[in-house]
Amino acid sequence: MTDYLVRVMTRFGTVRALACVTTTLVQDVCRRHGTYPTPCVALGRALTGGALMGALLKTGQRVALKFEGNGPLRKVVVEADSNGTVRGYVAVPDVDLPPRQGKIDVAGALGRVGLLTVTKDLRLKEPYQGVVGLRSGEIAEDLAYYLAESEQVPSAVALGVYVEPEAGVAAAGGFLVQSLPPADGEMVEKIIRRIGDAPPVTEFLRSGKTPEGMLEFLFDGIPYETLEKRPLAFRCTCSRERVERAIVALGREEVADLAAKQEKADVLCEFCRERYEFSREDVERILSEMAEEKPPGES
Ligand code: ZN
Repeated sequence: MTDYLVRVMTRFGTVRALACVTTTLVQDVCRRHGTYPTPCVALGRALTGGALMGALLKTGQRVALKFEGNGPLRKVVVEADSNGTVRGYVAVPDVDLPPRQGKIDVAGALGRVGLLTVTKDLRLKEPYQGVVGLRSGEIAEDLAYYLAESEQVPSAVALGVYVEPEAGVAAAGGFLVQSLPPADGEMVEKIIRRIGDAPPVTEFLRSGKTPEGMLEFLFDGIPYETLEKRPLAFRCTCSRERVERAIVALGREEVADLAAKQEKADVLCEFCRERYEFSREDVERILSEMAEEKPPGES
């Protein structure tokens, strides 16, 4: 099954829900970063949460989630856009923690004290930013807390990544359910009960159920309409041109220093681990092009 997301809405628009499978993209990203199981599950949950958040954006908009905690994993960063493209990384990919009560200890790795920062590029003058304290360090609960507190939308979030000891990521996915105004209390109660009865997301997926099947379970007996089904994939937005712009942004002095002292410059994209190599000649060319630019204020 390739990765995709389904978005549905109840008849009077009071509850919307999204469900997705992200197994392939989580495999892809975790392999690139060489993550150990615990960081892989943390990153996979965040990537899945990012995919769900991205699906709520309008065309061309982007969202970034940054989970920072006091644990050894330190940081998980994920970016997603409205087209179903996701990328992300963890600060320390080789954190090795024993399971806690038989489960991968994501909260122990990320830490239970910290911040979740959500930045949205809505193509306005200023990006929108919301910050909340970490609720549990388990990612899904933190995201639900952010949505309720910062965006004032009561939300339930479930995110799951199942890692096989040898084979790696075997299943990943999640769902997001939101109560929209005017709130239909009775319907929300009913769905909350179903969420409570639902097996973990990865159990759903491993038993062969689809995101559509997950939503059918959650909306048991409640009529809804499917608004959209879209593919999801890992993709990085880095390019040699962008890396070159980042080198230019270092300023003349730094670039001159680089050209003088280094045989070559290696730049590693932290999101996808792609390595960009710049020879001394490349750096000298960048420097000479910078010299041609007139300083600001001069005409
Ligand atoms: Zn990249």
